[in-house]
Amino acid sequence: MPVKGLGEYDTNNIFARILRDEIPSRRVFENEYAVAFHDIAPQAPIHILVIPRGPYISFADFTAKASDAEIAGFFRAVGEVARQLHLEAPGYRILSNMGEHAGQEVPHFHVHLFGGQKMGAMLVNHGS
Ligand code: AMP
Repeated sequence: MPVKGLGEYDTNNIFARILRDEIPSRRVFENEYAVAFHDIAPQAPIHILVIPRGPYISFADFTAKASDAEIAGFFRAVGEVARQLHLEAPGYRILSNMGEHAGQEVPHFHVHLFGGQKMGAMLVNHGS
């Protein structure tokens, strides 16, 4: 059983297929480093996923293997998406689930961008 977030990249994971336009997504932004689209099951009034174009499984994989240009380009894109969606003044939250303990489901690195309401506590289930 492979460790979630590590190991071999699955070229048929759902975000790889979104990148290849094999399945639809509601894109809000794209450039050479990143693509951003609406999460299919939003957990806030605004819930966007930002993914790098390269084949990285997780935050761990991305920060270990991506080039400096890819890392800088990707995180600038996350900031740019938030700016374009007018989230800077009210504020927003970014989050990335890495591996099993975080509950990562899709094995292509992604950052969740949440906005449109106060987000509340960072971790609701600590200790339970
Ligand atoms: P994570 O648990 O961090 O791996 O998050 C995966 C996210 O991908 C979840 O919030 C899902 O709702 C979202 N998701 C799964 N399939 C799709 C899809 N086809 N289009 C958009 N979002 C998706």
